[in-house]
Amino acid sequence: MPKILLLPGDGIGQEIVPEAVKALEAVGKRFNRSFQFQEALIGGTAYDECGHPLPESTLKLCQESDAILLGAIGGPKWEQLPVHLRPEMGALLPLRKKLRLYANIRPAVLFPDLIAASPLKPEVVQGMDLIVVRELTGGLYFGPKKREIVDGEEQAIDTLVYRAGEIIRIGRLAFELARKRRKKLTSVDKANVLASSRLWREVMTELGREYPDVELEHLYVDNCSMQLVRKPTQFDVIVTENTFGDILTDEASVLTGSIGMLASASIGGEVALYEPAHGSAPDIAGQQKANPLATILSAALMLDISFNMHQEARAVEDAVRAVLKEGYRTPDLMHSGGKEVTTAQMGDLVAEYIQKG
Ligand code: NAD
Repeated sequence: MPKILLLPGDGIGQEIVPEAVKALEAVGKRFNRSFQFQEALIGGTAYDECGHPLPESTLKLCQESDAILLGAIGGPKWEQLPVHLRPEMGALLPLRKKLRLYANIRPAVLFPDLIAASPLKPEVVQGMDLIVVRELTGGLYFGPKKREIVDGEEQAIDTLVYRAGEIIRIGRLAFELARKRRKKLTSVDKANVLASSRLWREVMTELGREYPDVELEHLYVDNCSMQLVRKPTQFDVIVTENTFGDILTDEASVLTGSIGMLASASIGGEVALYEPAHGSAPDIAGQQKANPLATILSAALMLDISFNMHQEARAVEDAVRAVLKEGYRTPDLMHSGGKEVTTAQMGDLVAEYIQKG
């Protein structure tokens, strides 16, 4: 029986994770599967209770589980803490590093019934179906950082470091993914300015020789961000550095109608971590306004990637599609009209559709 560790975290994390559990339980009933759920503290909630955003007990449970489902962490309450105790720096980044989750996979797919919710014109966005593969344990977020006083003035330094092996590892994963899809890989860098990007481009080009069936193109990150809104359908798989990927995936997410639609899987180590691409949304937390679909779709990725339950994963995606087709919308998707539902009602509807098939 697969052991799933639930880490609801902070803000809307507490509201969306239970909805993904409903979906997994519905999968269990329909396909005669059993999942074992355990829950642990992470983020600001963990800091309040145990004095650290990533308690040792949580890390241990993560390492012992078969997969992890995370809600979101962070919020204004914890922003004044010393950096190493803040939820993202103190929990999320070390967790990724400790579990060796070097690749973050974020599919950005436009569900046909959400075409009017996209900020782009229907004819531009129709058919958008891309995946961003973001390097997750290197790059600007992980390089040495410091603050110092130079000539009486304060300065801060972040460093963007990549070893060739780290680029090969993420590159290979992206090429393999592209090979299973439409066979186009866009490698995104800033090779006209950054030395790390020049190495990135050289390594990707070299690796491309092993994948002659995959078309490899290189784009500068500024151009890529523009191309995403100009013609998102030109992309199949995008592979990029940690910070570039963080920014580009937020952009890609909103093209699908809402950031509440974007699921993600962080893989590479023995245990994979699944989470929506958004944060803890403190502005709507505790109000049942959060869209739980990104978390539910993250659970579908878990079924696919960690448990090889492909039919079950498709059942979750089909249920999401069906609920959207029926016109049900959380507030973030209401700008194009529909029947407004709460977070929990959306979760109930998806679970119902999964069970009836
Ligand atoms: P955010 O993603 O939390 O929110 C951005 C906007 O999107 C807000 O208006 C919010 O209401 C909306 N939104 C996000 N998710 C939504 C959902 N499921 N349904 C409906 N609307 C949704 O980003 P932020 O405001 O920059 O950050 C808030 C906190 O979250 C910060 O503390 C930040 O550090 C943290 N954060 C955590 C993660 C993570 O846990 N992986 C990722 C990003 C940000």
